[in-house]
Amino acid sequence: MLKECEVLVIGAGPAGSSAAMTAAEGGASTLLIDRKKEIGTPVQCGEVVGETLLKSLKLNLPPGAKAMALDHTKFLLDRRIALTSREPYWKAVSLERKIFDKALAAKAAEAGAMVHADARLTDIEMRDGNVIEATIMHQGVETRVHPKVVIAADGVHSTVSRLMGVELFTEKAMAKGIEYEMVSNKRLPAGMQIFLEPEVGLGYGWIIPKGPRRANVGLAAIGLHGNRRDRLQEWLATNPMLMDMFDVDKVLEVKTGDAPLPGFLGGPRRGNVLFAGDAAGQTLAFVGEGIIPSYACGQGAGAVASAAVRQNDMSRLDCYERAIEDLLGNELSEGGDLKDSILEVWMDESIPAGDRTVLCGMLMSEVMFTDDLEEAKALLSMPQRAMVNTIKATLAKRKARATVSALHLR
Ligand SMILES: Cc1cc2nc3c(=O)[nH]c(=O)nc-3n(C[C@H](O)[C@H](O)[C@H](O)COP(=O)(O)OP(=O)(O)OC[C@H]3O[C@@H](n4cnc5c(N)ncnc54)[C@H](O)[C@@H]3O)c2cc1C
Repeated sequence: MLKECEVLVIGAGPAGSSAAMTAAEGGASTLLIDRKKEIGTPVQCGEVVGETLLKSLKLNLPPGAKAMALDHTKFLLDRRIALTSREPYWKAVSLERKIFDKALAAKAAEAGAMVHADARLTDIEMRDGNVIEATIMHQGVETRVHPKVVIAADGVHSTVSRLMGVELFTEKAMAKGIEYEMVSNKRLPAGMQIFLEPEVGLGYGWIIPKGPRRANVGLAAIGLHGNRRDRLQEWLATNPMLMDMFDVDKVLEVKTGDAPLPGFLGGPRRGNVLFAGDAAGQTLAFVGEGIIPSYACGQGAGAVASAAVRQNDMSRLDCYERAIEDLLGNELSEGGDLKDSILEVWMDESIPAGDRTVLCGMLMSEVMFTDDLEEAKALLSMPQRAMVNTIKATLAKRKARATVSALHLR
């Protein structure tokens, strides 16, 4: 039987566990629930986090959660151009998310929160815009609790959102993804590889090494039609680089999931409900980096919720948006701007599809910025060698820690 609580956190992903840990540390009686029987499993993620955010938040990874350090990112654009960035933003660490997520939930429990796996929110009762009762199915038993604050950290398909009638992410506002964890035929470079090409659609594909010969290989795209597994199989069977590196008969795990594009229409607070993580679209576009942003925003939600409970003043919940702004405002809004520019380029059908992916990749890798879009478009009319030389000159002028070369894989 679940016990009553002051703060109820739905979802024990990075957002929910950090929210519950912070709320419990702040002195609120806190209940963290997740519908999964084992927190962290199954994984629905590429499992990579940027080093810059990790460092700026001073987040120490739990023991065993780090899979591999990745010291560069290589962008492969339309099988024609390879851009390798060693800028700090493009250094990363791959994770074992099963270990990471479970360890975060354990930290919440150590901080004093009640934590329950196999506990699903099934219904809520609202009064005057606030949740006054939550119904939870816990190991087959239905319980009702009456929290003062609810933190909805229940992901892109948020049950809280749906039950409250708040607009959810539409098909156009989320990317559908699938990946295989695979064993490679060759030793992998210690870097992430990102593929932008028409074969992937409006999104990107990736190789994220988790060991010298083990990697997540997948793709995510907006409006991905048809069966996801077929799309990935087809990509693996037709992209020359993937064909060389991976054998479709060496698959350790299949992971699928949807990722929100940033920007939550209803705002991250509704009455006594704070939305955090994917449920609030708190991801960095266009890469869709959501693990650490969700963790950070969860902390913000937990701190604001416990302060409101401690002072018995629900108007304190108004501070949440400001807290997010202070924590990650720049990153979230820059990500939103980048997403808008990329979508604009992608929708411009006057540009051939392959060229659009080159342009989107130059924006995403920050070789070109939105202000340089006309300059970038001019590059497309050049022969490949002249294009590469011009990009080289731009990178040198900027003293960017990045290199560019021509690929001939079409
Ligand atoms: C294919 C793919 C690849 C990705 N790759 C990366 C990557 O490499 N790096 C990165 O930073 N981000 C990546 N992301 C995004 C990242 O996974 C998310 O941003 C992150 O997990 C969000 O954390 P969260 O805590 O908000 O939500 P989630 O991690 O989704 O957690 C939500 C939790 O809520 C629980 N829940 C849902 N409904 C209920 C309910 N009714 N009752 C109880 N519990 C409930 C779920 O079981 C789940 O555990 C990827 C996403 C996808 C889809």
